[in-house]
Amino acid sequence: MRSSRALRLSQIRSRPSHVVYRVPRPQSVRNGYCTVCESPAGKDTAKSTTNPPTPLADHRQLGIEQELFTTSVYSPGSPLFLPNGAKLFNRLTNFLRAQYDHFGFQEVITPTIYKKSLWEKSGHWDNYADDMYSVTGRGATGEKEGRQVGEDEEYGLKPMNCPGHCLIFASKQRSYRDLPIRYADFSPLHRNEIHGALSGLTRVRRFHQDDGHIFCRPSQIRQEISSTLEFIKMTYNVFGLGPYRLALSTRPADHFIGTVEEWDNAEAALRESLDASEQVWTINEGDGAFYGPKIDVILKDSDGKEHQTATIQLDFQLPKRFELEYQAPAPELEQKGESTTDHALLNVQGPVTPVLIHRAVLGSVERIMALLIEHHNGHWPFWLNPRQVMIITVNDRQAVVDYAQKCKRSIQGLGSANVASNGSMTMKSPNRIAVDIDDSPRSIQKKIREAKQKRYSVIAVVGEKDVEAGRLVVDLTNIPKAEEWMPSHPALKRAANLHLSFPSKAKDGSPIRAVHGNFEDQSSVKRPLGLPNLAPEQLKSLPISPMDLSRFLIDMVREHR
Ligand SMILES: [Zn+2]
Repeated sequence: MRSSRALRLSQIRSRPSHVVYRVPRPQSVRNGYCTVCESPAGKDTAKSTTNPPTPLADHRQLGIEQELFTTSVYSPGSPLFLPNGAKLFNRLTNFLRAQYDHFGFQEVITPTIYKKSLWEKSGHWDNYADDMYSVTGRGATGEKEGRQVGEDEEYGLKPMNCPGHCLIFASKQRSYRDLPIRYADFSPLHRNEIHGALSGLTRVRRFHQDDGHIFCRPSQIRQEISSTLEFIKMTYNVFGLGPYRLALSTRPADHFIGTVEEWDNAEAALRESLDASEQVWTINEGDGAFYGPKIDVILKDSDGKEHQTATIQLDFQLPKRFELEYQAPAPELEQKGESTTDHALLNVQGPVTPVLIHRAVLGSVERIMALLIEHHNGHWPFWLNPRQVMIITVNDRQAVVDYAQKCKRSIQGLGSANVASNGSMTMKSPNRIAVDIDDSPRSIQKKIREAKQKRYSVIAVVGEKDVEAGRLVVDLTNIPKAEEWMPSHPALKRAANLHLSFPSKAKDGSPIRAVHGNFEDQSSVKRPLGLPNLAPEQLKSLPISPMDLSRFLIDMVREHR
């Protein structure tokens, strides 16, 4: 019998991220899954009647326990992210934003609603209308006024970003020298899923993609695909997701657009990129969208079940529909992805249609969150954990509570609220480390137990003595894999040696300057090269200044910022 988790994860099925042009499907099939036999609600009902209740690693349940998101009858299929969920969401998207600089993407911000005439141009209105929400303005008739459409025109809530990015590409003249142009967009998207299919973060009506569109020359396809595969590999490695395999879907037998030559060239480029990636890949012969071949990433979860997440799709159609072009020498050869040294040909410039690559590394951010929530089951890696530090006061005396607040600001890089002599506030550089305080009038044992249950990575305790010494006493053993590298971290070694009254000079003779109580000290940590590593038991109860703790935690998240 499959585990409950496997059963539930099986509901996280692939859905096409950019498919606009659909072939007709049987009536019981909508958005790529069967509403009759694969309704998540239906499965849950069946399970509850046949199996005894068991604790589930269900992202919906975990989402409540970890205070990540909630739902409302007023917004079916549109989850409301709570502060912890928003932290998680932003860490995922900010991680990708940081990679965009490296991979050459530029983030854009695009509208949520567009006129019906845009969706007619893109093909959505004919092929995707059932999955879209239409919107009309107050008092609008929905009537068109000839081709130039007036304010009365009906609008559509966007189910994908591609048409908006085509408008940006078309907003100015483009030369072959400008390409590739890569746009990224985290816009919320809306798709009109039927009510019975809605479930947690996996079947939603409102979601976000780490959406990207690459406009490139035909000769650049291979390089762009390779770079995207590298992006996916790096990201899944960082998130601890995998293993995964790659699947190439090729030209359908009869229903396709473009020439056979264009398809052959594009497929050859994809195959070469896949071979160069040195990753396992398979082929789905004839399974490509009719507007271009594609590569899907099939992720295997810990139960061995496969889920489609990332996708890379070539599109020959949308650039033509939007009449996109760039100027290039020898345009006919350029369109085929070929080059020449013939001066006569090179002297002729002309318009060429760019190739459009739709790509998403995570796919739906909500769906990846569901996978990660279940995958980690509360044991978040430090950089993702929405509950990173809990400061517990030993009592609720004002001096201790005030000190806990001061520690929180110091750990977060906020210092105290400085007001310059001219009265203006000084700029702060917050590090976004999540710090909570429990100053409730309960026993310290109870508060520690609760913080552990909530999976805080760092539990810090402060009392009167710590106020005097300018320190916190931290338990770092809840950080996953802590024992591997923390004992040698300079800030921790320094803290341990300061508080254990080790000599004030390191073996190399460099002084170790105490910073206890100095909340504004921004000086760099002297690397205590000569100090011994911490013993494992020291990680359980380490006295440390807020500044040293902050330095250590910043190092922990640095590579993911
Ligand atoms: Zn797209």
